Amino acid sequence: MRIIRSRTELAEQVAQWRKAGETIGTVPTMGSLHNGHLTLVNALDGKATRRIVTIFVNPIQFNNAADFQLYPRGLEADATLLEATGKVDVLYAPDETEMYPQGFSTRIMVSGLDGMLCGADRPGHFDGVATVVTKLLLQTGADVAAFGEKDYQQLCLIRRLVRDLDLPVSITPVPTMREADGLALSSRNRRLTPQQREQAVHLPEALKTCLANMQSGKTVADCLKICRESLKNHGFNVHYLELRTGDTLQETHTPAPGARLFVAASLGDIRLIDNMPVV
Ligand code: AMP
Repeated sequence: MRIIRSRTELAEQVAQWRKAGETIGTVPTMGSLHNGHLTLVNALDGKATRRIVTIFVNPIQFNNAADFQLYPRGLEADATLLEATGKVDVLYAPDETEMYPQGFSTRIMVSGLDGMLCGADRPGHFDGVATVVTKLLLQTGADVAAFGEKDYQQLCLIRRLVRDLDLPVSITPVPTMREADGLALSSRNRRLTPQQREQAVHLPEALKTCLANMQSGKTVADCLKICRESLKNHGFNVHYLELRTGDTLQETHTPAPGARLFVAASLGDIRLIDNMPVV
């Protein structure tokens, strides 16, 4: 596995592969890798002859400077983990000036999907995501790219931007990987204290109970209210808890298949998100 830090070097590698008729699969990440990220690498089995994992903690998607500073980082451990898969050809880890040289002033905005959920909660976040993902897909020459359903709104937004901008890449969605107790794997979990880690399991449990309550005939509004209370009682600060359609992310009061329950909630200063479909 080659570690590449510059755009020019990456462009040379991509051009060489293209000339040889290779296809490229990309997995964009912010590093601090865990098994959830590795399922994205595995999801590209048979879909591309070369694989690039990108690691870049993208400053323009953080609306909170402290959150950016505290975001866990560890390039060496990440490289070791990727190398061990035997599946990754290039780890592309540009620095900030490489991605955003002086004078950088463009933002990609995907309207319609960015104003709710995490978009309402974190103003500007999705413009930052859409901008960096577009750059990474273009820089890596991706034919296919994998994104996790853990960040479901992000996945919807990226599908839309790929369609709208005619980017020649196909998007592979990957189901959320969870710990044995149900907590969705996340780089942010590393910052949880042992006590917060115990509390954190109530996030997926509350979602499951809420979905089960909806199936039992209670109104969606009542189910959400009960769920919010339960999360608060377990020490969470709930940012949002909403039932939305799985494609256009419109708010819905009908728990029909295809709808999804979305949550963002904090323990201390650690913000966790999760989502689950109505089945
Ligand atoms: P991040 O490094 O958090 O920006 O995530 C990079 C990619 O990994 C995104 O497409 C995420 O949706 C995906 N991802 C993160 N956690 C998980 C997980 N637990 N299961 C599946 N995909 C995940």
